[in-house]
This record gives sequence, C-alpha cells and structure tokens, in this order.
Amino acid sequence: MKPDAASALIHHPYEAPAGFMAPQVGVYKASTVMFRNVAAMRARDWRSKAGYTYGLHGTPTTFTLEARIAALEGGRHCQLVPSGLAAIMLVDLALLAPGDEVLLPANVYGPSRELARHELARFGVTHRLYDPLDAAAFAAMLTERTKLAWLEAAGSVTMEFPDLPGLVAAAKHHGVLAALDNTWGAGLAFDGFALGIDIVVQALTKFPSGGGDVLMGSVTTRDEALDERIKLTHMHLGLGVAGNDAEAVLRSLPSLPLRYRAQDRTARELAAWLQGRPEVARVLHPAFESCPGHAHWRALCTDAAGLFSVLFDERYTQAQVDAFVDGLKLFGIGYSWAGPRSLAVPYDLKAMRPGGALRGHLVRFSIGLEEAAPLRADLEQALNAAFG
Ligand SMILES: *Cc1c(COP(=O)(O)O)cnc(C)c1O
Repeated sequence: MKPDAASALIHHPYEAPAGFMAPQVGVYKASTVMFRNVAAMRARDWRSKAGYTYGLHGTPTTFTLEARIAALEGGRHCQLVPSGLAAIMLVDLALLAPGDEVLLPANVYGPSRELARHELARFGVTHRLYDPLDAAAFAAMLTERTKLAWLEAAGSVTMEFPDLPGLVAAAKHHGVLAALDNTWGAGLAFDGFALGIDIVVQALTKFPSGGGDVLMGSVTTRDEALDERIKLTHMHLGLGVAGNDAEAVLRSLPSLPLRYRAQDRTARELAAWLQGRPEVARVLHPAFESCPGHAHWRALCTDAAGLFSVLFDERYTQAQVDAFVDGLKLFGIGYSWAGPRSLAVPYDLKAMRPGGALRGHLVRFSIGLEEAAPLRADLEQALNAAFG
C-alpha cells in the first residue's frame, strides 16, 4: 500500500469558509448558481472547473471530492458520475465511435459486458473478450479498429489477476487507450497510472464509500486532452452527483486505508481456513498460489481487497451449495462489496468466465468489518449443515 495514503487523504488541501476553521468539507447543494451580472454570466466557461456555472456541472463539495479521488488514484482530473457502471459507460461513450472495437477481459464486471453487448452494439461499436492472463494473445487481437481496452485487476468474481504490465505495453504499442476498472485496488493496492494506464475508473460505491449506502463512480485521467473529451461527454450526458452523496464519500475517505487493510487481513484468514476444508476444491484469492494470476499480483502488490471466491467440489450439487449460502447467519446474501457487512453470493461460473478452465461451484465472499472468529464460526456451522 502507498505508505502515506491515509495521511494524504486526511490532510488533502481544503479551504474552509472565512472564519470557520473546520477540516471537514461543507455540503453545498444547488441547481441554480447565480451570477453577479450578465457580463459575469457570459464570461463564465461551463467547461472550466475554476468556477461554478450550474449545479449539474459541480459544486465546492463535488469539486473537492473529485480532487481527492484524483489524488488517491495518482491522476490529475476526475469526473464523478452516479454509479460505477455509469463511469464505465462514460468512458465508452466518450472514446468510441461507429466502426470501433473495444476489448474486454473475459472475467470483466458483468454489466460492462452487457453494456457493450446491448448498447454499444446499437451504435456500431463491436467488442471481443480476451484472456486477461495471456498478454501475447491480447496483443495479437489488436487491430486498427481497436480503440479501447478495458483492464480489471483482479476480476471481481473469478479473481484472476492479469498481467497488467504486459497488457498495457501491448495496448501502448498499438496506440490503443487502456482503461482500468480499479474498484478492487481502490487506488491503494497498486498505481495504475505509473503502469501507463490512460484512464482509471472506480466504483466509489465500494471501498471509498465503505458504508453500503452510496452509489457513485469516478473517471480519473492524467492527460489534459483525454480529460477534455471525457468532461465534454460527461456534460452532454447530463451526469452529476448529489451533494449529500459526495459528502458521504468524503466522510469515509480518511478511513479507507484502515478499512482496506482490515478487510484484507480478515479475508486472508478466512480464505486460508476455507482452503483447509475438505468441501473446498480451490480458493480464488490473488494472494494465494491457487489463484490464476497469483504471480502477477505478487509482482505488483502486497495488499488485496477483502474479496475472494471458493470453488466447491463438482461432486456436490448446486442445491447443497445454495443450502450452505442460505445457512450462513452473519453473512448476508447480496451484491456489491467493501461495506461493513460480510456477504456471500453463489455465481454461475460459466456465465462469469466464458471459456475459462475453472471447475466447480463458485461462491464469492465479500468480507466486511466483523472480526474473523465469528465469521469463521458461521462458515463452519453452515458447511457442516449443508455438506456434513
Ligand atoms: C460494483 C462494481 C462496478 C459498478 O459499480 P456500481 O456503482 O454498482 O454501478 C464496476 N466495477 C466493479 C469491478 C464493481 O465491483
């Protein structure tokens, strides 16, 4: 983890209103932002973030959050959008045109693939899936039509950690823009821009919020011209976020590194314990040797998100696996992750990773902020009841 990540988030510059020396950021809410006179209104450039034009284009609260997310990611410019999926959509719509192709990893966040399949296809943009572990095969897929390649490290269900340096080098070599979905890394586990990635997206819904109560996404860039394209599309699409939601994320940011570490520690303890259970054929956690891409993770990271999957042996029925998940008392059943509450979800392996070599029944665990011992006891009683 970046050694000063917490200090940087807590001490990020913020100017409080005159005479009010509190470090917490104010919540500003507006649709209308008024101008002193017509000349001031005409002089205002809606593309510039040096001032305010209209609530949808930003407030002091959203601009502060943008600056903090940009700093967290190691970028310069950031646009906020109402969800992580909207961040992916914004990048796609800003950078792709009819006739273009976008490449997605085979283990991509599912809704991103559906977006390409159903919406981008209608606008004449095609997509293909690549094996995130095979940079050479990825390089061989790049054509003149390839304009954008999405990267995800690690995959959020099957957990493969890709060969990021190899994939980015191939994309650069062919002049293809590389966009990273950095929700797993949260801007902490590794530095995407240092690897040469052009655009870094995050579902702020996950770690930066941490509360399980906000939906938001971010698109961060370093390059001025790229930011300009994304910013214009952002405005044309009418995307914006609410002041109260931005405040909730701002409030959670200082504890982000602590939460990330705590969830990582608990997740590894539980994954190691599950690895020793006879029902579990394989643990899929990037820090474990049993996980495809583990060597890529080790080359780049020491930290990991509190997220992992296990494969139950094929000799069990799906009904037994479902009974195990139903039998969990502390773990909730539900989507999303990085909130205070631990969650478990069975996924259809073939749908999540088409063409993959993994076998068995997959259950994905998102570890919350509970202690390891009660979570382990819960896993144990549910395993014994369902498989015993
Ligand atoms: C959750 C998630 C998203 C989408 O975020 P939402 O805010 O739920 O739309 C995108 N990518 C990854 C990897 C995610 O886990």
